[in-house]
Amino acid sequence: KPRAVNASHFSASNERSLHPECNLVLLGCRGAGKSALTVKFLTRRFISEYDPFLEDTYSKEEIVDQEPVLVRVMDTADLDGPVNPERYLHWANAFLVVYSIDNRQSFEACCQYLEIIAQYNKGAVHESPVLLIGNKLDMERYRQVSIADGSALASRHGCLFREVSACLDFRLVQKVFYDAIQEVRRE
Ligand code: GDP
Ligand code: MG
Repeated sequence: KPRAVNASHFSASNERSLHPECNLVLLGCRGAGKSALTVKFLTRRFISEYDPFLEDTYSKEEIVDQEPVLVRVMDTADLDGPVNPERYLHWANAFLVVYSIDNRQSFEACCQYLEIIAQYNKGAVHESPVLLIGNKLDMERYRQVSIADGSALASRHGCLFREVSACLDFRLVQKVFYDAIQEVRRE
């Protein structure tokens, strides 16, 4: 069985199929729930107050489809739009662009990220998969972004679309991260 190894070992390689690692970056405007989703995936717990300025990368060993993988999650902390995307464009194997279904503005902010990623993917040897994530599904009553709008934006950019909640079922959140890993393996 392949084991996770040091990131530097593979960082220069384009052979995605040999990667025992998977780098995921969460993007989106402040308040969308990137940190809550990250913490939920890592710990199964919902932390309601998380430092909004803290940007960090975490790693966790997972078994996805019987294959071990070292998942690295970069939880970014942009204020209200993409700043300095070079820090994650090369690093990431997949992009999770997050908005909150109860906040139209957070949805509109996703467009800028999707554009930057599309530009980057155009010039790349391997296209890195993108997932558009509508978070805070528990806030259905206050929904400002319809499922149709989310799924239309996703298909316009050729990405997967999922709705989740960082404070509901852990498995649904885990599934979104696993979907991203499976997409990377498919590349
Ligand atoms: P970030 O800036 O994208 O990292 O957003 P945070 O993870 O810090 O979350 C911003 C706020 O939204 C916090 O008050 C969280 O408690 C709240 N939040 C995050 N995810 C959810 C969710 O799924 N449902 C609800 N109701 N609140 C959430
Ligand atoms: Mg955060």
